[in-house]
Amino acid sequence: MKDFGIDIWANNNFIIEDGLIKLNYKSKPSILNIVKEIRKNNSKGPILLIFPHLIKKQIKSLYTNFNEAIKENNYKGSFNAVFPLKVNQFPHAVNAVVNEGKEYNYGLEAGSKAELVLAMLKTTIGSNITVNGFKDKEMITLCFIASQSGHNITITIEGINELQTIIEVAQERSLKIPNIGIRVRLHSSGSGTWAKSGGMDAKFGLTATEIIGAIKLLKDSQLINKLSMIHFHIGSQMEDIAPIKKALREAGNIYAELRKMGASSLENINIGGGLAVEYDQYSHGKSRNYSIEEFSSSVVFLLGEIMDAKNVKHPNIFTESGRFIVASHAVLITPVLELFSHDYHEGLLSFKKINPPLINELIDLNALLNNSNCIEYLHDALDHIESLFTLFDLGYIDLQDRSNGEILSHLIIKKALYLKSAHHTNELEQLQVKLQEKYLINASIFQSLPDYWGLNQNFPVMPLHHLETTAQRGASLWDITCDSDGEIGFNPDKPLYLHDIDLDKEEYFLGFFNVGAYQETLGMNHNLFTHPSEYTIEINEDNYTITNEIESQNILKILSSIGYDEMMIIKKLKDNLLNSDFSDKKEKNDTLLLLETYVKQNGYLRN
Ligand SMILES: *Cc1c(COP(=O)(O)O)cnc(C)c1O
Repeated sequence: MKDFGIDIWANNNFIIEDGLIKLNYKSKPSILNIVKEIRKNNSKGPILLIFPHLIKKQIKSLYTNFNEAIKENNYKGSFNAVFPLKVNQFPHAVNAVVNEGKEYNYGLEAGSKAELVLAMLKTTIGSNITVNGFKDKEMITLCFIASQSGHNITITIEGINELQTIIEVAQERSLKIPNIGIRVRLHSSGSGTWAKSGGMDAKFGLTATEIIGAIKLLKDSQLINKLSMIHFHIGSQMEDIAPIKKALREAGNIYAELRKMGASSLENINIGGGLAVEYDQYSHGKSRNYSIEEFSSSVVFLLGEIMDAKNVKHPNIFTESGRFIVASHAVLITPVLELFSHDYHEGLLSFKKINPPLINELIDLNALLNNSNCIEYLHDALDHIESLFTLFDLGYIDLQDRSNGEILSHLIIKKALYLKSAHHTNELEQLQVKLQEKYLINASIFQSLPDYWGLNQNFPVMPLHHLETTAQRGASLWDITCDSDGEIGFNPDKPLYLHDIDLDKEEYFLGFFNVGAYQETLGMNHNLFTHPSEYTIEINEDNYTITNEIESQNILKILSSIGYDEMMIIKKLKDNLLNSDFSDKKEKNDTLLLLETYVKQNGYLRN
């Protein structure tokens, strides 16, 4: 893997220069500099860096590509986009989408009542709101209220009953009636991890028979002039373009049929999300087989072709891409707290006058190891340490001998891997699996990379510095939760190599990239680790500014968020301490203050 696969996943957002990974924008600050500046103010845990310019870039790319395809294909409909809030509801993402999307009239998509309220709050009057997901009468009434307030809102019905409720509300109230969309249940389905949204057994959408029923109901209740959109969404991160095209053909034909059935205000096709992001760091395992250029021109060409064949007006195209818009804008930075094998250093060896023969052999192997014998010696060392463990279990050697054996074998492993790292032989790769270094990262995978934990979704990961030297240690990453699932293991098919750093001498940071979609609200407070501290970075021509710090929740706040009384926690802890015996009054006061400081900090490690 050259340069941690930056050519594959980074989309030119980042570059490697002078051994550092830098933003490839305006003043090109290095991420390490930004991190160091943030940490100056005593912030030691994981950090989420937010780059709004990358949202702007994605919005522009989406619109430019579609508008070019429209021009090229002489397509008559327009292109419109809404941002699905479920992908990232945090203010930094929503504000960036709304602000950067202003010139395009960028809208928002809501899938729940809370998201609908957020959409009503953040959408500029005149931009689109689309509403998907299951709805009760209250949520549908809320859509009427949004419409009455001036929003250009479309309710996508997921079933006939929702349409009946819309008709009811329209009869009961004289509020402005929202536009109506129909989510169609396609027989085409997607592929990949997130493919459950399409296909005949999909969770959402109306069947052909139900669509015909819906049209009749709309006509009977004189609401057919409100039917403006048909919608489908076959799944997120669609890695293959073929199923997308198949779904488009099907939906395009449904649109044309409905127009022919008299749905004369039907003007929009909403193709949902699913536009994929490249997460892969290894060229042999690229995660998607198409580009935004191919995607946009396929959509426009296919829809034009279908409508021309059926002699139907070209629909306006709507997308609800979420992942594509926001994945790249957030980078998770995790300090490395410890390299596991560094507990085994030479200075801790303590030999006896007479050592067991196997220890003496290890001493020799360590001293005589060189380039030509190192694989052989490495095998011997691995063999000896196994034997030493057996001898220990049987009571033939003591703890000191065992300790010496462990240190010596680690020293040999390290030396051998270092000597051989220039040539990646099969043999060495197999050994790497066995002998990987464990890097302890100050973060929670459950909180910050939940899709890794839940779906095995890989995120590009790399160190922020030392990039002028080749990293040589096969690495597995451990987080600080007390859960053995909080680990990103060494994967021989996609091996991660990191640097062998002496953390007593310098800090070492890892960056996880493309974490801006879905991870933040899916993240959970396992072990009561909370959202990392978050900083928005605005990059300008000659510098950058750090704004909008959102501190990680402190210990009191996280406890109170799950139902414990903040005041009671403080009182109880203090009372216990006050009632204990202190020889010194000053120490008592200092300890009280210390306790208070601790509970008012977040729970990440501070070393
Ligand atoms: C989740 C979802 C999206 C967003 O999908 P992405 O793959 O993130 O672009 C769009 N539309 C609907 C209806 C969704 O449920």
